[in-house]
Amino acid sequence: MNIYLDIDGVILTKQGDQMPYLQEFLSTIFDLFPTKVYWLTTHCKDGTTNWLFKHIDGKLDPINEKFIMRVKPTKWDTLKTEAIDFTKDFLWFDDNVLMVEQKILQYYKKFDSWVKVEDNLEEITGKLKNTYR
Ligand SMILES: [Mg+2]
Repeated sequence: MNIYLDIDGVILTKQGDQMPYLQEFLSTIFDLFPTKVYWLTTHCKDGTTNWLFKHIDGKLDPINEKFIMRVKPTKWDTLKTEAIDFTKDFLWFDDNVLMVEQKILQYYKKFDSWVKVEDNLEEITGKLKNTYR
């Protein structure tokens, strides 16, 4: 199972603070899928994480920063779906998926792989534990 993570609205709140229950969420996904966690964010679309680290600098607890260092960069141009490997099962954690990206998910019959994050990481983490552990 590949994991794709957005930043704004998932790792950070819309106000730019650390999302509540982030530590539980990150420790659960790295426990379940240790080598398969990827970025899917406008702050990392060129295959490097330089700009991303500037964006989150000082906003996260040290333990969460350690988890964040393990997330792998992706490369895409216009749509986040370009970076998704549709040959594999995946979960995509994002607060806001564009309509055109939703249509691409539907085309691949993967719409349910999008996990909509809206200040509900506690609930999402509970579901992950129940489903995959
Ligand atoms: Mg977002």
